[in-house]
Amino acid sequence: MKHILSILVLLFVIGCTPVKENQEPTFGIVIHGGAGTILKENMSPEMEQAYREKLTEAVATGHAILKAGGTSQDAVEQTIHVMENSPLFNSGKGAVLTADESIALDASFMNGKTLDAGAIAGVKHIKNPISAAIMVMNNSPHVMLAGAGADQFAVEQGLDTVSESYFITEMRLDALKRVQEKEASQKLSLNALEEQYFKNQRIGTVGCVALDLQGNLAAGTSTGGMTNKKWDRIGDAPIIGAGTYANNASCGVSATGWGEFFIRSVVAHDIAALVEYKNLSIQEASKIVLQKVKDLGGDGGVVVLDTQGNVAMEFNTPGMYRAHMNALGELNVKIYENK
Ligand code: ASP
Repeated sequence: MKHILSILVLLFVIGCTPVKENQEPTFGIVIHGGAGTILKENMSPEMEQAYREKLTEAVATGHAILKAGGTSQDAVEQTIHVMENSPLFNSGKGAVLTADESIALDASFMNGKTLDAGAIAGVKHIKNPISAAIMVMNNSPHVMLAGAGADQFAVEQGLDTVSESYFITEMRLDALKRVQEKEASQKLSLNALEEQYFKNQRIGTVGCVALDLQGNLAAGTSTGGMTNKKWDRIGDAPIIGAGTYANNASCGVSATGWGEFFIRSVVAHDIAALVEYKNLSIQEASKIVLQKVKDLGGDGGVVVLDTQGNVAMEFNTPGMYRAHMNALGELNVKIYENK
């Protein structure tokens, strides 16, 4: 009897001992190209194909860096370059236009190991804003630079700069015209106006979260913001904790959506906090925080990665351009709700 009791006690102790997580080094990468009213019926097959190809090229770029043992910082930077250099997305070339047909780009980056961060807002000449955000982090005593000063910093750092016309595309000029015509022709209330263009004229922000073989997370986000923005409006993308956050203790997050609501909900940090303090999975945490955004009247999405390589791509809009690649090289590219 004593013997059986000892065995039972032993089994109980074994049952209570936490199973050690698989500590094998892993890596992974997830990206978004913006969330919004992206519907199959409004998309030509050629356009859809172009988006899928560019998302694949971008995610594969970062994946190759990670696979070769590169850092999550390099993977995020180079992956975002692919999307910033493509006119398909609302970042870098092809960014949406301000009310005066100008460009004002925002970007941010965070290192999950050191919690160092950098951001730039309202820049007009930096070809790849994500690189400027990383340089603010690495080569200045500050976290965020804005406007002409940020452009000047990029010049001093030797980053590629371009004239505003480099960024401006016909598609974004047309979008601005449509929004402004609507604004002028209809006596819309502020709420109706918001419905008209705030919701649908900002699609294409880009973001990336990467986990490298050293176990370090990094996250970055880059955007032109919202079409027809005025008064040097700045959204969530360059705000650490709202549009971007990374912490090896929890996860890395890049957000896209209606920036005003993402700032007020402190989306990226709130997700990381739920993971760190409440031990929620990144899916659960993302769903809770996006519901908070929705309850306030906003919408959008997030991509999230943790140090085990788990991925979440959550959104409460009809679609979100998104892609993920795991350590095995398995690729997942989606635009609409399920495909
Ligand atoms: N969050 C961006 C902004 O508000 C836009 C977007 O991601 O759709 O500037």
